[in-house]
Amino acid sequence: MPSMKAPKGTRDILPPETSAWQRVEKAFSSVAARFGYAEIRLPTFEHTELFQRGVGDTTDIVQKEMYTFLDKGGRSLSLRPEGTAGVVRAYVENGMPSLPTPVKLFYLITAFRYENVQKGRYREFHQFGAEAFGAAGPAIDAEMIGLLSVFFEEMGLKRTGLRINSIGCPVCRASYNDLLRDSLRPHLAEICGLCNDRFERNPLRILDCKEPKCRPFIEGAPAQLDHLCPDCAAHFEGMKGELDRLGIAYAVDRGIVRGLDYYTRTVFEFVSENVGTQGTICGGGRYDGLVEACGGPATPGIGFALGVERLLMELAAQGVVNPPLEPPTLFVAAVDDTSGQEARRICHQLRRAGVPAEADWNGRSLKAQMKAANRLGARYAVVIGSDETTTGRAKLKNMKDGTERDVALDRLAEEIR
Ligand code: ATP
Ligand code: MG
Repeated sequence: MPSMKAPKGTRDILPPETSAWQRVEKAFSSVAARFGYAEIRLPTFEHTELFQRGVGDTTDIVQKEMYTFLDKGGRSLSLRPEGTAGVVRAYVENGMPSLPTPVKLFYLITAFRYENVQKGRYREFHQFGAEAFGAAGPAIDAEMIGLLSVFFEEMGLKRTGLRINSIGCPVCRASYNDLLRDSLRPHLAEICGLCNDRFERNPLRILDCKEPKCRPFIEGAPAQLDHLCPDCAAHFEGMKGELDRLGIAYAVDRGIVRGLDYYTRTVFEFVSENVGTQGTICGGGRYDGLVEACGGPATPGIGFALGVERLLMELAAQGVVNPPLEPPTLFVAAVDDTSGQEARRICHQLRRAGVPAEADWNGRSLKAQMKAANRLGARYAVVIGSDETTTGRAKLKNMKDGTERDVALDRLAEEIR
């Protein structure tokens, strides 16, 4: 028999944990909307070429982690390993470059990567993200970080480490790449094979390598931040000024390069010790060349993606408690099968009126029904028998203090508000 277990790296999210998910999804949508970001929903798979171009074919994601397959029509498709490439494709395909700028979009998605499964690292995982197109200055970088800081604050996170860096633009990157190659060249025999490939094509990528044997050479390498062109330096200073005025604390971290090929200038991460080996809850940055690389007009852009599983781990680690599942307000019990029909009709009408209500669906005894009402945490209960059915009145019991009062059954919804 084939294995009936969920595939490695996937997980079932069950109640009551789903209430924590609903809470963060609602809060993220609400904060994003308040900051002027509109939701975009996209396909789960795209042409493989989109990710090769939009994520970059020197990245770990594209080289090692994609779920790529041929469909029955012979097309090479890939499950999305992240959200930005799809948003950029949709932005160009749907004519959004002609909209007033900035165009601000957010998403809640599942993403797929063939990873070494460990704490905080899955093969199917969830991301919240946002992208802003058409604003070149540093103000929007700070706005986006501001969105995240308000979201974290509303979630009840007390500590979130924000790290920022700049990885320059094509102008200063070229001369920096030469410096980086000079520093790494004597160690080519000692660094991993993948980094040897990256050495010519995109040496910056080497700085993000997680192989232990590469780390010492990475730590000794020059940093792009110390070799920015005047425009990139001004952008970085401008963003720091904006963050200061918004009252957002940050640390400059020369080591952040981000895992994707298309980043320019600003890169940032929110980090924590509680979420597994790499500790990144959220990563983002500016990608001024990406829209053009995906066939659109030259358009500056910036975005971030936040790992929802890691956010929830961090919330738990900081002791933020999840809201309990909503208990039914009223349990409609019945003394026998005939009254059960009336109880279920009343229950249905209450639900139509917006009241969370429950009844018995198993033909259980009255005693068992009252036990169920207690177990579910119902605030009120009524018991329906033939008298109640005939007179249309019943005793409404407050389950907390045991008090009862006589009410009209067709006014139950109003009585318990
Ligand atoms: P890492 O360095 O941890 O591999 P990354 O740089 O590959 O992360 P991004 O591509 O920037 O991650 O994705 C944004 C966020 O998505 C990460 O900060 C993290 O919170 C989350 N994330 C990435 N990969 C996974 C995964 N396999 N499982 C769970 N969450 C993930
Ligand atoms: Mg990764």
